[in-house]
Amino acid sequence: TGPLTGDQKPRILLMGLRRSGKSSIQKVVFHKMSPNETLFLESTNKIIKDDICNSSFVQFQIWDFPGQIDFFDPTFDSDMIFGGCGALVFVIDAQDDYMEALNKLHMTVSKAYKVNQAIKFEVFIHKVDGLSDDYKMETQRDIHTRANDDLVDSACDQIHLSFHLTSIYDHSIFEAFSKVVQKLIPQLPTLENLLNILISNSAIEKAFLFDVVSKIYIATDSSPVDMQSYELCCDMIDVVIDVSCIYGLREEAAAFDSQSSSLIKLNNGTILYLREVNKFLALVCILREDNFERQGQYENLFINLVFTCKLYLLFFFIGVIDYNFLCFRNAI
Ligand code: GDP
Repeated sequence: TGPLTGDQKPRILLMGLRRSGKSSIQKVVFHKMSPNETLFLESTNKIIKDDICNSSFVQFQIWDFPGQIDFFDPTFDSDMIFGGCGALVFVIDAQDDYMEALNKLHMTVSKAYKVNQAIKFEVFIHKVDGLSDDYKMETQRDIHTRANDDLVDSACDQIHLSFHLTSIYDHSIFEAFSKVVQKLIPQLPTLENLLNILISNSAIEKAFLFDVVSKIYIATDSSPVDMQSYELCCDMIDVVIDVSCIYGLREEAAAFDSQSSSLIKLNNGTILYLREVNKFLALVCILREDNFERQGQYENLFINLVFTCKLYLLFFFIGVIDYNFLCFRNAI
């Protein structure tokens, strides 16, 4: 495994039928387009190599294929396309009849696997915002069964497919992409280990290492991720970038730089803390305020004193976190 900023670019292919939502996904996740604007996107009819390595830590390319591409066309260079590919994301429109998409998935996956057995196959069951919870689960089960049955029938059952329910109208698309990208980062166990050490020594509840541009988290500590915490941290990144853009920018300066840090205190006793790690990455942590506030029984009597103590304690703990954070950043 090379250094974290190595030259190798794990490539992600984004494929699926026309109108399944590929361009929308790419625009929303990597180009900050708002989901409603995707209604006016023109349908893809060529391969788009979207190299996002300049702005993002995650150095990968998205190849957006037009849905109707023919793999058996001799001009289709599958060695070149699947050879260097890390993950193949196949998008299925869950609001539409998906039989044709399943055929295409099967064809694509078996072709790609012949060329490159190391590819991770990821199926996005997409546009699930329009489906009820029951129907969502039913659709996932049905797609899962049919796709795997097709593989078994053609003696390709060694191929493993992962499934994700996604929509561009909520954070599920970012969460799914985070999972896809994490599988392509060979240093992931080390990063997780570093985050575990950081949180246990700093009384942090949860910590995410974010790619700031895409809001994909490339690692988190090993406690379970709940969607709400993830969304909160995503929103914090938006707030910090927006505030920097409005108030912090001098000519040609970036909205996110080595000085970026922010602390937001919520009224439910939670503290969000963001620190820049490098040009692309930020650490966002969730802390509980009462972890560094010991509310004494004399609070009412000595309210001012206690208040001052709380402040000192807060600064003290932020000091501890900052120190631990510097160790973490050096390790990265
Ligand atoms: P492509 O041909 O695969 O690139 O598909 P597009 O990105 O052009 O998307 C086709 C249509 O699907 C557009 O009108 C999008 O607004 C819509 N779409 C994409 N993603 C979603 C989603 O998550 N939910 C819903 N409801 N519509 C979506």
